[in-house]
Amino acid sequence: MRDNKYDILFEPVRIGPHIAKNRFYQVPHCNGGGYRDPSAAAAMRGIKSEGGWGVIFTEQTEMHHTSEITPFIELRLWEDKDIPGLRRMSDAMKVHGALAGIQLAYSGINGPNFYTKEVPLAPSALPIRTFTNDPVQARALDKQDIKNLRRWFVNAAKRSKIAGFDLICLYGAHGFGIFQHFLSRATNQRTDEYGGSLENRSRFAREVVEDIKEAVGDTTAITMRVSLDETIGELGFSNAEVREFVEMNANLPDLWDLAQGTWEDCSGPSRFKEEGAQEILVKGIRELSSKPVVGVGRFTSPDVMARMVRQGVLDFIGCARPSIADPFLPKKIEEGRIEDIRECIGCNICITGDMTMSISRCTQNPTFMEEWRKGWHPERMNAKGDSNTVLVVGAGPAGLEATRALSLRGYDVTLAEATTTLGGRVARERLLPGLSAWGRVVDYRQYQISQRTNVETYFDSRLTAEDVLGFGFEHVAIATGSHWRRDGVARQHVVPMPIDPSMTVWTPDDIMAKVHPENLSGKTVVVYDDDHYYMGGVMAEVMAKAGAKVILVTSSAYVSDWTRNTLEQGAIHVRLDDLGVDIRLNRGVTAIRAGEVETNCVYTGKRSAIGCDAVLMVASRTSEDQLFNDLIARQGDWPDAGIKSVKIIGDAAAPAPIAWATYAGHRYARELDTPDIGDDLPFRREVTQLEPA
Ligand code: ADP
Ligand code: SF4
Repeated sequence: MRDNKYDILFEPVRIGPHIAKNRFYQVPHCNGGGYRDPSAAAAMRGIKSEGGWGVIFTEQTEMHHTSEITPFIELRLWEDKDIPGLRRMSDAMKVHGALAGIQLAYSGINGPNFYTKEVPLAPSALPIRTFTNDPVQARALDKQDIKNLRRWFVNAAKRSKIAGFDLICLYGAHGFGIFQHFLSRATNQRTDEYGGSLENRSRFAREVVEDIKEAVGDTTAITMRVSLDETIGELGFSNAEVREFVEMNANLPDLWDLAQGTWEDCSGPSRFKEEGAQEILVKGIRELSSKPVVGVGRFTSPDVMARMVRQGVLDFIGCARPSIADPFLPKKIEEGRIEDIRECIGCNICITGDMTMSISRCTQNPTFMEEWRKGWHPERMNAKGDSNTVLVVGAGPAGLEATRALSLRGYDVTLAEATTTLGGRVARERLLPGLSAWGRVVDYRQYQISQRTNVETYFDSRLTAEDVLGFGFEHVAIATGSHWRRDGVARQHVVPMPIDPSMTVWTPDDIMAKVHPENLSGKTVVVYDDDHYYMGGVMAEVMAKAGAKVILVTSSAYVSDWTRNTLEQGAIHVRLDDLGVDIRLNRGVTAIRAGEVETNCVYTGKRSAIGCDAVLMVASRTSEDQLFNDLIARQGDWPDAGIKSVKIIGDAAAPAPIAWATYAGHRYARELDTPDIGDDLPFRREVTQLEPA
């Protein structure tokens, strides 16, 4: 049972007309599914209810068609027709006693309205601010527009109530909601009673809260989500102004929901932000109002959570990512199962589902967004099938997750690993600067496996096809990973580029194995990044810290381009610049010669040389699929060896980020011994219902 030092986290707390059963508060978070996948999104929230959260929110819900953020897929509440989909979600949230919350968003200066083709409306006439610099401007709301907007909020509140929500959150944080746009001098340059003084700038928020209270306040709590600091200096809504605003409007909402700066600031990855990083900004705000306060900070440690409440910093522990990585986090604390918490690693892969408008995944929790699509539960596996024994080859994230999940199903699992450590690529990458929290991928699984009596692990076991055939396991999962290519094949080069053998060329594997001299001062290293995720930037950081003069050459217009999807691209650029890395964008490498690399402009093709002592090649990876291919070549010998199946999973099948490997391991474990579905789609899917033609 739970340690009494955590009792404080399980105290009930009032929010307006409702009482939350505990202090665990799942703040709104996107999931890439939204209105396209309503049942998948609803089931995901339902799992959190089962996991013990006291309050569960939707993602941002576009509350009126005059403000929407296409192409991003969130929720919509534009007409009565949207109510059933949202009702499905609130029902799922409430099954196990959580309060159901909906976040209403009017995107104002962030809504380009590509889908509805409406003219965007905002406090002041300024260009729309999105990730993609869309060539659209907003028109300033006139007095009639403001009246209309107030009415639209009331309409949305009434629909939210019919849809079964107990709480309504008015979104004004991360730069993403009309309330912030009114509050900030940067986006509110009005000269009427809605602009100028803070009192005037908060008028709109006051009016909307009062309108909604009057309409549904007897049954519905109203929370206000604002940024703790707009992080653009005095012109913006600064932390000092936030405090003034809360003091001035102390009892306005039923709860203050405080989130830091931009989304990048608030959901900073572990590479750049510690757990509880917002503490200084939030501390003391609670004393300015009698209403409860929720704040976030990638909280995964119950000790930190309890301290936040004990010290009066927060009333509610707000979690988005930690609730994704482990929807059962509250339950595990309640049951005294701290070691079983699957801690978020802060990689922000979940956010990429929203940024790529696909559907989210989580590195730590492969069942995220598959609760409905595949019927996967984060804590329970399907029953064991007819066979009994499985050999998993390779203890990277794919092999470890397969082993963990197979053992839960009841199989006898043997895990064979070539080296003396568990973790594969994660065992190496966790030692890189800023990536230590990623080690939780290994730590969680290592502990879980250690608790199982049906898993045997063998180290120093680099297996051959002969070995595998000699063992006689019924099923074999090959999770042997991949290695970085040295020949430059990636996107610019689909065949190897010319490389002079006298030039030192390292790969990230070499750097992680520390083959390079510890002190590189006086040396020039060209890091060529044609991978575009985090590795190129991390490698440049390692080289710079070893004293080298680093020139980062990349064919993209951004350093670590794909990390725009994990909200860290800007931070990576700043870090490299701080370290003195010379960043050369929009350039490829055409040849590596003795003492220099030849680069080209990706547009003009114009070439120029950079003199250097070594090249660090961050290109693509090659699968370690030799063992798999050898076994396939000997398929005729399987029956005698007692082998029923051999499958290749994770990076060994096709290299990808770590989340793809944990997913592959989990999927393997789920599907073993299940009926062949032939050509059927391997997941459930919702298709828009046709209106009459
Ligand atoms: P993934 O991300 O797909 O899990 P990794 O590269 O992280 O892949 O992990 C692969 C693991 O497999 C590494 O720990 C590696 O040492 C191990 N491995 C590779 N080949 C063999 C082999 N033939 N026998 C046993 N283990 C192997
Ligand atoms: Fe945490 Fe990464 Fe999972 Fe997101 S994807 S919840 S950041 S572990």
